[in-house]
Amino acid sequence: MNINSRKFIKRLFTRTSLAIILLLTAFSFSKGLYAQDKSYHIKTVVIDAGHGGKDPGALGKSSREKDIVLNISLKLGGYIKKYFPNVNVVYTRKTDVFIPLNKRSEIANKHKADLFISIHANANNNSRIRGTETYTLGLHKTKENLAVAMKENAVMQYEDDWSTKYEGFDPNNPASYIIFNLMQGVNRDKSISMAELTEHQFKHRVGRHSRGVREAGFWVLKQVSMPSILVEVGFISNPTEEKFLKTKKGQDYLASAIFRAFRVYKDQVEQTSVVLHKQQENEKKIENEINPLENTAEQVEFCIQLKSSIKQIPLNSRVFKNLKNITERKINGTYKYTIGSTSNYSEILNLQKTVRKKIKDCFVVAFYKGKRISLSKAKELQKT
Ligand SMILES: [Zn+2]
Repeated sequence: MNINSRKFIKRLFTRTSLAIILLLTAFSFSKGLYAQDKSYHIKTVVIDAGHGGKDPGALGKSSREKDIVLNISLKLGGYIKKYFPNVNVVYTRKTDVFIPLNKRSEIANKHKADLFISIHANANNNSRIRGTETYTLGLHKTKENLAVAMKENAVMQYEDDWSTKYEGFDPNNPASYIIFNLMQGVNRDKSISMAELTEHQFKHRVGRHSRGVREAGFWVLKQVSMPSILVEVGFISNPTEEKFLKTKKGQDYLASAIFRAFRVYKDQVEQTSVVLHKQQENEKKIENEINPLENTAEQVEFCIQLKSSIKQIPLNSRVFKNLKNITERKINGTYKYTIGSTSNYSEILNLQKTVRKKIKDCFVVAFYKGKRISLSKAKELQKT
């Protein structure tokens, strides 16, 4: 080996080790980022088919609530499993068996579910009443809603010793329902969001008559410790609706509507948590930076513009389709409403995909030092 080749090998070795060091650094950096990503994911959904066994639920002319809701529940679970194989689907019952009310919530809590969906069918003495209703836990605002909760809670009377088991709660006594006045838990917003999405799907995708989102004191919802809804898929006491509820097609439509609502809900809560997580990380970064103000101002910020209007729009307006964390900016006399904030372009495109499902014409905008800039300018700035 001559001197030249020795030099060459030495140089090669230095370069290779440098490359390895760089690769290792990049790897540990990306791994570090990955490990920090503790964003929220829906892992388990509990589907609760109401009634069963000795408790038939509401009775129609030729059908029983317990059979209809079991079919819809199994179909819904099937859809979730098919399209989200990573989501664990747990049923409170898969067959025609009686399950005590407390047992249903116990199953959901034991599995640490992220969402609880209880499925029921309605009935009324007035056979003309029809339509879907989705409930979240709360104090009823109308007698009608109280009546639905009373009917569903009354199933506890199928159990022996129910009065002791249910802490003296009397499902038939309206005065008992005062306890639900205090039920404004941490899961309220998420529950309402899922309920609204469900009614939206019933109305627009399946063409059902939606009676809207309501609140009432359902024992089964009170006992679960996660976002939860109770769906009344229609009135078995209405002949036309009973006919629909009984058919395979009708059940399939309703199950797919709840599934679609779930899909949007999942996207929403997971995306929000990513954004929140990112915000928290950014805040932490700012705290750690020596000159935080200067650094953040220098960053290009991508957002999604939802609406633009000369008049101010309230953030809870229907035009925003229940999207949360919306920012209002007044630029040249026009109100601009945006969602999301990140310096990462591919991240904002991902968020846009989700938001598009609700607001079709939303688009990505960029800001720099508080001013709106073009996307090409933003990308150029990021290169330097
Ligand atoms: Zn029921």
